[in-house]
Amino acid sequence: MKSRKTICILGHHHPSASEAEYCNWLLARKQSGEIVNYLYIAPVELHVAGKLWKKWAIDFAVKENDGEITYHESKGWNRSDELFRMKLRAFMLEYPERKIYVNKKLVKFTPSGRIVMLEKRKRKTNLVKT
Ligand SMILES: [Zn+2]
Repeated sequence: MKSRKTICILGHHHPSASEAEYCNWLLARKQSGEIVNYLYIAPVELHVAGKLWKKWAIDFAVKENDGEITYHESKGWNRSDELFRMKLRAFMLEYPERKIYVNKKLVKFTPSGRIVMLEKRKRKTNLVKT
């Protein structure tokens, strides 16, 4: 997928068309009352062995109707993007109570420690192998 700067309905300058589409999708969900609000760019700090490893600007933070804050990355899953997987893993280890979605799919650890995404679009829940 090619990346090109795209302006969403709210006027953010997103680095890619897919991210702008994600922002427009969240705006539509806000307008229809499915979520309370959302924030473009949610900075989090990731620590390894007690030291700051990386500052990660997650694409979106969403305030759900039950008050929970969830995190959303709009990028497509790229198996070769090892840094992204490391950031995901570090986030999930440091903030196990927070839900993170990648391209609308909830990310989970398997019991063996692999990262998987839960596919919600189909009737049954499928595990997407990574
Ligand atoms: Zn936007």
